[in-house]
Amino acid sequence: MIDFQSTKKIEAFLADAGAGDRPTPYLVLDMESVAVRFERMRDALPISDFYYAVKANPGAPVLRRLVGLGAGFDVASIPEIEACLAAGAAPNKLSYGNTIKKETDIAQARRLGVDLFAFDSAAELAKIAKLAPGAKVFCRIAQDNEGARWPLAGKFGCSEVEAAELLLSASSQGLQGTGLSFHVGSQQLDSARWSDALHAAGRVSTRLRAQGRTIEWLNMGGGFPVEYRDPVSGLDEIATVIEKGVSSAFGASAPRLAFEPGRIVVAEAGIIRSTVVLTADRDTNGGGRWVYLDIGRFSGLAETLDEAICYRLRTNKDGSAKLISKIAGPTCDGQDILYERRHYKLPADLQAGDIVDIFASGAYTTSYSTVGFNGFAPLVTYYI
Ligand SMILES: *Cc1c(COP(=O)(O)O)cnc(C)c1O
Repeated sequence: MIDFQSTKKIEAFLADAGAGDRPTPYLVLDMESVAVRFERMRDALPISDFYYAVKANPGAPVLRRLVGLGAGFDVASIPEIEACLAAGAAPNKLSYGNTIKKETDIAQARRLGVDLFAFDSAAELAKIAKLAPGAKVFCRIAQDNEGARWPLAGKFGCSEVEAAELLLSASSQGLQGTGLSFHVGSQQLDSARWSDALHAAGRVSTRLRAQGRTIEWLNMGGGFPVEYRDPVSGLDEIATVIEKGVSSAFGASAPRLAFEPGRIVVAEAGIIRSTVVLTADRDTNGGGRWVYLDIGRFSGLAETLDEAICYRLRTNKDGSAKLISKIAGPTCDGQDILYERRHYKLPADLQAGDIVDIFASGAYTTSYSTVGFNGFAPLVTYYI
């Protein structure tokens, strides 16, 4: 059966003659699907600049494909900068979006030609002024991430009042301080969050206008949700929320809009194939049936932490009667449990050697895989 989150190319790869010889687990990423998703998103949104969040999937073929489509890149470290440059990105297409940077990294980024830096504190701003004089900077404001399955809040962002002060201070330190950013949290399920964030940005803009300055550039971070097990708001719905939010928060003086999509570009372009290692009916720890896979929390499925991201699963025995199952990874670590509360149902006759495919797993999997915890290899990717 071909699922809507798969593609003919992925299904053909999973079924081809060599499939049995490929050790699992592995991720298959359909590059055409990455390109289609990026273009669809770019067409649907009223936004000018797109910076792909490299951490979602830093694979060289992904970066090269997105360079070819004219994307920019949101980078967080020197290795991410180098990966983008190696893939052919121009340095002026890179946004150093991490607000926590070593001085040596700011200096190195500048040497590599990067000219756009994020900050959210006075001390970080001072570092940029010292090591990248004259650069363009943007200030990240704190934003409520309620509704996000994978929040990116708490350790980031300043208040609206401080943002206005810091942006004024940026110009007096010789920087081009004209930008603002926020992130509503990754896998954001409540589209109202974009509206709230746009109004917060609008209030910072009003404060600056009182001082004769304007916000010229607004970076709206990422956060677009992907359909894992449950339906989510579509691109069009969120595009409408953004359009309305921009016009009510900024009126006629709307800034140029940027966006840093990660998950939505790559998640649904990939499927992980894994194999069942063991099934056991246990009478300990509340009892129940456990299914152990050859992939776990430490080899790519980090986002199952707190069962935050619930992937859709497919097995080679999906026609059989199903049993509620607890699902875990193969390592000797008690935290290496994927799902024990979310009531996943798997075929009752599933056993060692059977196949479990994990849908929409192209984002935040290879990049979160450990280098070899317990000797289990980092997640392999086939780019097709
Ligand atoms: C992780 C991250 C993104 C991407 O978020 P998604 O939810 O994957 O779209 C964008 N911007 C910043 C600053 C990030 O840290």
